[in-house]
Amino acid sequence: MLAFDAVVIGAGPAGLNAALYLVRAGMRTALIEKNSPGGQVLSTSEIENYLGFPKGIKGWELADLFSAHVDVYSVERIRGDVQSMESTEENGKMHILHMAEGEDIKARAVVIATGAGNRPLGIKEEEIYKGKGVSYCALCDGNFYRGLDVAVVGGGDAALEEALYLSRIVNKVYIIHRREGFRGTQIYLDKIRSMPEKIELVTSSVVDSLEGEPTLKKVIVRHVETNEKRELSAEGLFVYIGHIPNAGFAPAGLERSEQGFLITDQEMQTNIPGIFAAGDIRAKLCRQVCTAVGDGAVAASSAIRYLEHLNA
Ligand code: NAP
Repeated sequence: MLAFDAVVIGAGPAGLNAALYLVRAGMRTALIEKNSPGGQVLSTSEIENYLGFPKGIKGWELADLFSAHVDVYSVERIRGDVQSMESTEENGKMHILHMAEGEDIKARAVVIATGAGNRPLGIKEEEIYKGKGVSYCALCDGNFYRGLDVAVVGGGDAALEEALYLSRIVNKVYIIHRREGFRGTQIYLDKIRSMPEKIELVTSSVVDSLEGEPTLKKVIVRHVETNEKRELSAEGLFVYIGHIPNAGFAPAGLERSEQGFLITDQEMQTNIPGIFAAGDIRAKLCRQVCTAVGDGAVAASSAIRYLEHLNA
């Protein structure tokens, strides 16, 4: 069985930074990544609010820089999928990760930084039109809709930011949002409101159904108060209505919020000694690249203290 002082699960900004701090403290560290490093940053078109990049930076470029920084040090990078975790008492607490690929990995400290996946709309046509109009990544799929009309669902930063990105490629963007007020940052809203010919806000409305054969042609929206329906001609529907935590593999005994995010103290310690959590997997209010990076540093520092205490 592979054994490490610390294992970090997830190679988004939180996990990469946690691995960097752990290895620099002399800990034998593994970083388990299921997909390419970068997490949600990879599918973010442009990041304008990460300090140090006054002109903004493409998500994939920032992800590459983060990953290259970790590669300066001897972090063991393992491509794999953690299926489940258990804790045993082996000269003190030991955490065992069961990998989909078969081999188990053990470590005294684990940082869970697996982030969150896209929340689905939950209407019955969503599955049918996946890859035929419904997308969760404007950066990946936006180009397929060059010159066409598309819709974005959601009123948070992701929806607003990606609607702006799409407006540079497509003919017209509808933003469908379930209420009048927006959760997203004012600077994005101001930009959007300054270009009504390119982006139309369809507020107090939800997606009722989707139509088109063989690919999406129409998004039918319903006004939440009047129940009046409106047909939007759109060949793409980009869903940005928040996230669900990627915590299915984590021990059942870990405390979670109502939405399933992991609860930690301010040092990123969960209720199980030796298990820390960082980034979007945590129950918290502010989910930004910079807060994920900060969480990673704090979780690693706590894990280092924990390991040093065990070895004392
Ligand atoms: P979010 O902030 O949670 O916003 C989700 C949006 O979807 C909200 O407007 C919500 O409406 C709406 N929504 C939720 N469930 C819905 C449903 N079932 N049907 C229709 N609409 C629904 O999620 P996010 O935009 O993905 O952002 C997640 C975090 O990442 C946030 O902390 C955000 O600030 C951060 N982020 C930051 C940036 C940036 O700063 N550049 C970019 C992307 C993301 P209500 O408002 O009515 O609840």
